[in-house]
Amino acid sequence: VRNRFLQDRTAAEIDRQVAKILRGLGNPKPPLHLEDARALLDLDLQYYSSSDDGALREFIHNLRVAGKQIVLRPTILLDAIKRFDLHALYLPDRKRILLDEAQPEIKQRWNQAHEIIHSIVPWHEELSLGDNRSTLSQGCYEQLEAEANYGAGRLLFLLDLFDQFARETKPQIEAIKQLAVIFGNTITNTLWRYVERSEYILFEIVSPHPYYLPPTFDPTNPCKYFIRSRSFAKMFPDTNERDLFQIISAYCDRRRAGPVGSGEIRLHDANRDAHIFACESFSNSYEMLTLGVYQSKYSPSVKVPHTMRVA
Ligand SMILES: [Zn+2]
Repeated sequence: VRNRFLQDRTAAEIDRQVAKILRGLGNPKPPLHLEDARALLDLDLQYYSSSDDGALREFIHNLRVAGKQIVLRPTILLDAIKRFDLHALYLPDRKRILLDEAQPEIKQRWNQAHEIIHSIVPWHEELSLGDNRSTLSQGCYEQLEAEANYGAGRLLFLLDLFDQFARETKPQIEAIKQLAVIFGNTITNTLWRYVERSEYILFEIVSPHPYYLPPTFDPTNPCKYFIRSRSFAKMFPDTNERDLFQIISAYCDRRRAGPVGSGEIRLHDANRDAHIFACESFSNSYEMLTLGVYQSKYSPSVKVPHTMRVA
């Protein structure tokens, strides 16, 4: 999956909605307490279990019995959860967020913020649940999800406050980890926002550790996320995550957790000129995060250990 940038107008409108919440909370210091945001918006929170089908059915049944327009067909929630592999939902009629209790806590924080955004973006409400949701086209669904994820990042990282912190933070995983602590979010999410909002030429890859590939590993699609800054995407439009994973793997060692290696790599831009990136990889023991930082144009006199050719 690659990050995609929203249209400026859409992003600005979502920022405006997030700013309203933060103002309502008195422009809080990080980390943001989501229960405060929920209280401000009068949103309720409830957990469900997606692994225990019976409990979910029971829950849906209760919702239906409780009436209103939420569930016209008793299985619609279940269908939506299965079809989209949902780990969170927002029920507009009840102003209620539902979270999958099987998800780890730090992921629930993200999911909750994501659903809060669904609840505050005016054009999401009419599309968020009910028959509309189940008939939503894939493209439209993905667009809404991209918007909710963008807004979740803006909310959890307190809009421009993160940008201010990020500008004073070197593009190094160790330094960016400090930002994760300050804002109370995962390192993966923090690195993602850092790269996406940077004016520099950066990329991030989230992949398995090359020495500990899971049984589900697909060599044709080895990376979970390939996050590019705007300038990277513009300058290196042809760089793909499959090639990147291969060259990054060359410098990785067998350490399961913590830093697993670093190295300089060579990438070709759209004009086929070669450039050097400094890369470092870090394992959080179930995923590997790699940050690539632009160094300079490649000159043949400089020796680079790991090189890549774009076909
Ligand atoms: Zn969503």
